[in-house]
Amino acid sequence: MNDKFVYAPGPTSIRENVRLERARTTTNPDVDKDFIEFYKSTCDKIGKIIKTENPVYILSGEGILGLEAACASLTELGDRVLVLDNGIYGRGFKDFVEMYGGEGVYFSDDYNKAIDTNKLKGFLEKDHNFKYATIVHCDTPTGVLNDLSKICPILSEYGILTVVDSVSAMAGEDIKVDDWKIDIALGGSQKAFSAPAGLTMVSISEKAKVAMKNRKTPIIGFYCNLTIWENYYENKWFPYTMPISDIMGLSKAVDNILDEGVQEVLDRHEKIAGATREAIKEYGLELFLTDGYSNTVTAVKVPESIGALQLKEHMLKKYNTLIITSLKPYDNEILRIGHMGENAREDKIIYALNIINKGLKDLGFNSEENLVGLFNKYLAR
Ligand SMILES: *Cc1c(COP(=O)(O)O)cnc(C)c1O
Repeated sequence: MNDKFVYAPGPTSIRENVRLERARTTTNPDVDKDFIEFYKSTCDKIGKIIKTENPVYILSGEGILGLEAACASLTELGDRVLVLDNGIYGRGFKDFVEMYGGEGVYFSDDYNKAIDTNKLKGFLEKDHNFKYATIVHCDTPTGVLNDLSKICPILSEYGILTVVDSVSAMAGEDIKVDDWKIDIALGGSQKAFSAPAGLTMVSISEKAKVAMKNRKTPIIGFYCNLTIWENYYENKWFPYTMPISDIMGLSKAVDNILDEGVQEVLDRHEKIAGATREAIKEYGLELFLTDGYSNTVTAVKVPESIGALQLKEHMLKKYNTLIITSLKPYDNEILRIGHMGENAREDKIIYALNIINKGLKDLGFNSEENLVGLFNKYLAR
């Protein structure tokens, strides 16, 4: 199971020092005050990466927990919530809103480019009575990156709280939580942070906190109630036993990012993603998007005669390499190159592109070019 080369837009590859960190001796995270300090310092370091003074928490649960927790904590029966929809995750947010009694209203835009902020402005001029809005930073199945620096301030002007799913962007694409007025920013350990799956990171603004406090009805549930974290540090008490080894691993992954430099990490993603996109186009393939390319994942259209699913199976069988397609309805149309986190390294992307090059040619794709050669050409520019 563990000998194949896996290259996906999450879970991403994990550096050895992160894996080893999880094997270290642990303490009792409920009662050992040193752990509380360690937890808080890890949260503060994440705050540095996402550029916020807001409190940051690490929750025990994979990225989806954060999405559900934000909706559970903010939504009361009948609340209108604006759901920005230009991708599969964006559209799916409505399910969480409605699970907790809210009325989700879509603002829908094309799935092959970033949200058009002028269209959004026009929509809001007519209808802006929303408690909060959900926005996906990078919608992973298609790799579209939405411009939070424009979208969130526009919503904020109308007094609409902003809940951002940045699970597959955070640490690979810039996110300035405070400057961009993001009330709740959500991340996951297994994407660009390159730690194992299992943790959600969440930052909460004062305004979001007040909205949770001012509810007329109590928040349903416990795990998804974000207010249970509020005074953990002052009270030296966690709502439940923290998964200490997971957090030790994440902390090491965060140190890896800070040691390299946050901006340097973002630049590395930009360089590798840019060269990948150029190489793909010159090779004779098409990108799924027309603009709004995320530097964390590239969605490549696979010719119909081959099909993304067949290509995936072939690469797995013949080359023991798992490179994945998209979600339905794009599962047979799109191959996803997940160059995020530790996957955004020259050795790994070159290996992946080499297998894609071979796989496509095995299945009859015609190109005089070699994907790796093209990538190297564009990387050098
Ligand atoms: C990965 C991801 C999540 C977390 O959910 P999964 O269960 O890992 O799919 C949430 N949002 C986005 C945009 C993601 O890419």
